[in-house]
Amino acid sequence: MRTKIVAGNWKMNKNLQETEELLAELSAKLPDTDADVIVAPTFVNLQAAKQALQDSKIQVAAQNMHFAESGAYTGEISADMLLSLGVDIVILGHSERRAYFGEDDELLAKKVKTAIDKDLRVIFCFGEELEDRKSDNHFAVVESQLKNALFDLDASAWSKIVLAYEPVWAIGTGETASPEQAQEMHAFIRKTIADGFNASIAEDVSILYGGSVKPANAAEIFSKPDVDGGLIGGASLKAEDFTDIIKAI
Ligand code: 13P
Repeated sequence: MRTKIVAGNWKMNKNLQETEELLAELSAKLPDTDADVIVAPTFVNLQAAKQALQDSKIQVAAQNMHFAESGAYTGEISADMLLSLGVDIVILGHSERRAYFGEDDELLAKKVKTAIDKDLRVIFCFGEELEDRKSDNHFAVVESQLKNALFDLDASAWSKIVLAYEPVWAIGTGETASPEQAQEMHAFIRKTIADGFNASIAEDVSILYGGSVKPANAAEIFSKPDVDGGLIGGASLKAEDFTDIIKAI
């Protein structure tokens, strides 16, 4: 049974006061839903978010973490640090981390392994760039991103993995993949996992779509059989938009 998930990646937005305000508004407006609802504020506001949401069903995720247990990595955050705040979900592999901070498949494989070893749930992001799609290379790119970062894991690790397909050309651009393009890629992802592991892992893993999801397009994207929810950027920063998207799941 796949879990439906709506997750908000707040990226580098919202200071402490704004975080508390948005969470208060979100908690008040949260619709009744079977889906997991997750928000990922910036590191410095995770503790406040956990505090603000202690009586809420909204879960808290981090946007990144380091692969090392601890040590001389100035400016970095470890799995244990997240866990000590009660944060047991982490987004890894976001295209902005890949593009602006040089995170490659090899590094991400290490991060995913550490997160899984520490029993965190991982929202693993991947997706092709516009040139890849134009040159009809998008399936090959996605396949290699998945294989390089995830296929050395034990089969048992997959119960802690959530996939987020985010075509780079659709992130923050207002241009969404069509529901058909999302479905086509999500089905391909399941097939790739079925071939690499087994059919039941492929069937059970939740695959989120991310890239300019908004209230106006969420229901149609979520209606596709292999789309199990969304990873929302810009529209997760407004309580009304985010709750409308939750209603669409
Ligand atoms: P937008 O919803 O702003 O396009 O961002 C998507 C995203 O990157 C979520 O991680």
